[in-house]
Amino acid sequence: MLIHQEKNKNGSGIVHRAKWVILDPWTIIRDGFVKTENGIIAEIGSRTIPSGFPVKDHGEGALIPAVINAHTHLELSAFRGKVPCQNGFRTWVEKLLQEREKAEVDTLKKAARDEILELQKTGCVAAAEVSTLGLTRHLFFESGICGIWFKEVLGDCKKEIFQMNHLSSTEKMKLSGKNGEPPMLSFAVHAPHTTSSEVICDICKRAGKMNLPYSIHLAESDDEIEFITTGRGPWADFLASRNIRFSDWKIPAKSPVSYLHTIGALNKNTIAVHVLRVDKADLQILAFNNVRVCLCPRSNYNLFGIFPDIKTMLQMGLRPCLGTDSLASVDTLSIFDEMSFVRDAYPDISSSYILAMATLFGAQVLGIDSYVGSLFPGKKAAMVFVPVDSNKVDDIIDTIVYHDFDEVIPVF
Ligand SMILES: [Zn+2]
Repeated sequence: MLIHQEKNKNGSGIVHRAKWVILDPWTIIRDGFVKTENGIIAEIGSRTIPSGFPVKDHGEGALIPAVINAHTHLELSAFRGKVPCQNGFRTWVEKLLQEREKAEVDTLKKAARDEILELQKTGCVAAAEVSTLGLTRHLFFESGICGIWFKEVLGDCKKEIFQMNHLSSTEKMKLSGKNGEPPMLSFAVHAPHTTSSEVICDICKRAGKMNLPYSIHLAESDDEIEFITTGRGPWADFLASRNIRFSDWKIPAKSPVSYLHTIGALNKNTIAVHVLRVDKADLQILAFNNVRVCLCPRSNYNLFGIFPDIKTMLQMGLRPCLGTDSLASVDTLSIFDEMSFVRDAYPDISSSYILAMATLFGAQVLGIDSYVGSLFPGKKAAMVFVPVDSNKVDDIIDTIVYHDFDEVIPVF
C-alpha cells in the first residue's frame, strides 16, 4: 500500500517507521512508514521507505493517530482532589462553586497551563475546552493544541452570548486558525436545566450560522431529569437560591432530550455531552437529528456510579467519542486512561470502536476530521507511538486497547 500526496520537492521531510501503522482502527499497515513534511503527512506506505530523508525508526510497536479529548474544562484543573464526588451531584456542584469563588485567577491559569502540557504529553493533539470564566482562551489558542474553545453560558444572561460579537475582527483572526482551520472558537450551553430555553435556542442558531458545533451537557444528573420533567425539586430550589429564574422555561417536558428537541435546539451542530440518563426514544431523537455525542464515562462513574449506554448508541448509528470532563471529577485528563476505563467497563464493545471513540469519532464530533483523527496524506502529522507488539494484524488493535500505558510517545 502506498498513499501519497503531491508536495513541493523542497519541503524538509522525515520518515517515521514502525512495525505497525494504524491509519484508523480499520486500516492497518504492517512494516509501515509515515513520511511527514512541515508537520503534514506527505506519504504513507509499507516496506520500501522513501530515500533521501532522515528516518526515525520507532521499532516494535504501533504508530496510531493522536488522541482527542472532546470535552474538558481546563479552567477547573486547580481542583484536582479538592471536590469529593461521593456525596451526590448537588453537593459536588456546590463545593466546586465554593472552591472556584475563593481561588486566585493566577492559580486557575497556572493549573490550566500545566494541564494543557500534560494533555500533549499524553498524546492528545486536539481538545474541546469549555470555559465559564473565559480564563483559558488565550492559553488554549497559544498552546498549539487543535480543537475548539467554547465559551460557556448559563442562566438567562443574554449579555454573555454577545461576547463573540465583541471580539474585534483582528482578535478573531488571531484566535482562529487560517482558512477556517482549528483551533476554533464557539459557544457552549451549560445544560438544559441551568440555561433558559431562549438562550439555548439563540446559541444553537449562532452556531448554525457559523457552521460550528455548540456543546451542551445533556441528561447527566438525576436532578436535571427531575427538574426538566416536573419543574420542581431540589434543583429548582438551588437555581432560585442563585437568582436564576426559570418561570418562563418550557418545562415540564418528557425528558431533557425531548425538551431540547421540542425547542428546536438539536441538530447536526449540537454536541451532546454525557447522554447518561436516556432511553431508546431519546437516542432515536438524537440519531434522527444527527446530534454529535461525547461521553465522559469515568466522570459519570465517579459522580453517579453509572455508565452511558454505548452499545445501544452504536447500534443506533451514533458515533460517540470520548472526553474526560474536568479534574474536579476525574484524576487525569488522559484519553488513554479514559480508553482503559471504557475497555474494562464495556467488555462487549469492540477494541476498534473504543480506539475510534478516542481518535476518529472525536475528530468527527469536533468537525476537525479533515485535519486530525486518522492518518492520511494531507492531514496533520499527529501520531502517537505505543510500544506494544503483536505478530497478527487481527490482534494489534486489541493489543493496543488492552495495554495499560504508563507512557506514550507523542509524535507531533
Ligand atoms: Zn463538562
